[in-house]
Amino acid sequence: MDRRQFLKSAAALSMLSISDAQGQRTSGQAAAQSVHRARPGDLSWPAEASWDKLRRAVHGRLIKVESPLVACEAMPEGVSCRELLQALKNPYYIGAQPALTQTSGWVDAWMSVPSIYAVVAAETADVIAAVNFAREHHLRLVVKGGAHSYQGASCSADSLLIWTRAMNRIVLHDAFVPQGCAGTLAPQPAVTVGAGAIWMHVYDAVTTQVSRYVQGGGCTTVGVAGLIQSGGFGSFSKHYGLAAAGLLEAEVVTADGAARIVNACTNPDLFWALKGGGGGSFGVVTRLTLRTRELPDYFGGVFGTIKANSEAMFHRLTARLIGYYHDHLFNPHWGEQIRFGPDNIVSIGMVFQGLSQQQAEAAWRPFLDWVASVPQDLTWQTPLQIAVLPARHFWDARFLKQNVPHLIIADDRPGAPEGNFLWAGDDEQAGQFMHGYRSVWLPASLLAKHQQSDLADALFAGSRHWGITLHFNKGLAGAPAEALEAASDTAMNPVVLDAFALAIIAGNSTLTFPSLPGHEANLMTARRHARAINVAMGELLKVVPHPGSYVSESDFFERTWQRSFWGSNYPRLAAVKTKYDPSGLFFVHHGVGSEAWSADGFTKLAEN
Ligand SMILES: Cc1cc2nc3c(=O)[nH]c(=O)nc-3n(C[C@H](O)[C@H](O)[C@H](O)COP(=O)(O)OP(=O)(O)OC[C@H]3O[C@@H](n4cnc5c(N)ncnc54)[C@H](O)[C@@H]3O)c2cc1C
Repeated sequence: MDRRQFLKSAAALSMLSISDAQGQRTSGQAAAQSVHRARPGDLSWPAEASWDKLRRAVHGRLIKVESPLVACEAMPEGVSCRELLQALKNPYYIGAQPALTQTSGWVDAWMSVPSIYAVVAAETADVIAAVNFAREHHLRLVVKGGAHSYQGASCSADSLLIWTRAMNRIVLHDAFVPQGCAGTLAPQPAVTVGAGAIWMHVYDAVTTQVSRYVQGGGCTTVGVAGLIQSGGFGSFSKHYGLAAAGLLEAEVVTADGAARIVNACTNPDLFWALKGGGGGSFGVVTRLTLRTRELPDYFGGVFGTIKANSEAMFHRLTARLIGYYHDHLFNPHWGEQIRFGPDNIVSIGMVFQGLSQQQAEAAWRPFLDWVASVPQDLTWQTPLQIAVLPARHFWDARFLKQNVPHLIIADDRPGAPEGNFLWAGDDEQAGQFMHGYRSVWLPASLLAKHQQSDLADALFAGSRHWGITLHFNKGLAGAPAEALEAASDTAMNPVVLDAFALAIIAGNSTLTFPSLPGHEANLMTARRHARAINVAMGELLKVVPHPGSYVSESDFFERTWQRSFWGSNYPRLAAVKTKYDPSGLFFVHHGVGSEAWSADGFTKLAEN
């Protein structure tokens, strides 16, 4: 048998594909030392007949993936290209393209590239067929839902994509009991969601339609399965806790092609890992059931920007706000953000739940009085506005269009569902190209009176280089005991329990597509920004002894990512990975078990 024939046979026998360069080795030695996934052109890449077989197995739902950008690259000045660029501003459009991701790339890190083929999964059987095919043919497998990964975890060149977008059924339950938990867990109201659903549609079904609450994410176009596996924070997480903590049950297709029910009573180890262990590492989630809760009467928001007329005053303002947050806002009512900018501007964009207009105004009155007492030093660029609205209308597009149209942007695709919108400002993240993204959980101990000035100094020093935003809803210190207990039963880094906020320092350019003439990234600028972001984070890290970072909103280049993302939970997660995916079919950048693979996920690294 010649070498070519030998390799073909090896592939046919479903052995691991073998390094071309090491062709002299026997197959067994090669498998142990050098394992590669197949790429088009490799002898082990499936033949057309094999793809046809998969196509039949998924009832025709296998497609060749072609990027809509390709036509535009050829005719950048054409009408259709202009229309495409307009469409690319809409995350709903991007989300509906199998070839695209919401982020187009990250300087010196990754670029969004389409898969070769995609299974447009409509049912669990499609996912099973795709998983089996990828395993048997040693393919690089990618799973994509809402396409919102900053890290490029839902795309790869030369891959087979399982695209869950069409699996978006939503069913409400009055009294849900996870399978196998009868007599152990009490029935409770819940919602079952197909893995490809986005939060907008879940909020519509749960809050707008039936006046209940489900803990999800802030951005309306983020996918449900991706966010739950991240751990997941929404605007009101300081009260309701992690989105993942509300998971009651999921159906998951594991690497062996089995569709498994996971919950507190059945496969509890995998259930735990899915709650914050990171998307794309343990299997393909096909549906999830989340608890729903009573809706409060009101949600509200507080918005304003203040400019300090000197650095010294900005430093004082920063210190004042830290103390103010601790004394007045550090409780389950308040979430979202305050940004400290290099231009000496503080931007306040906070939300609240369970407070009336008067109560919210009372919470801010002492701060407003203080600002008014130093008119020569501080100026409201946008005066502080406090507004409440009935909670059941918070995600109600029709209500918002009528009453606060400036807060939302409608999905402008012809025939788009009327309920589709995104929050104004979130449009800047469609087609974004990342320059840098760092995050760190800030321990609540920094809010102690004797530490506040250290924190203010670090924020001030960092903000001289890049804007720093504190996301108070992304740290659970100050949350109710029930939310903390539920979060401690997830895979997320336990430092989240003691953190009062997640500090995010990030920069990007919008509507940037490296392959599109006229819309390329400016790499020199991007790298300069990345350096400034790192310096800013360096200042902040001086006061954080044990830094942890949110897996889905973090640095692509995070060095000690296992510890940063999962802390003491990593060994347990690694054991779950080994049990359910021993050969490493599921790979994502900096996912659990990814240290066994090359950066692109194609080559298994030799064990030491
Ligand atoms: C603009 C923007 C806003 C964001 N806002 C928030 C926020 O408010 N709160 C918050 O907590 N996070 C937020 N995030 C982070 C977000 O939650 C994560 O990036 C999340 O993983 C995105 O899920 P997705 O399905 O949209 O993305 P995808 O890119 O489709 O998937 C993300 C990861 O999950 C995997 N995955 C997706 N579906 C499945 C599945 N069915 N089975 C197994 N693996 C799967 C993918 O393989 C990938 O690894 C935001 C991100 C962006 C870009």
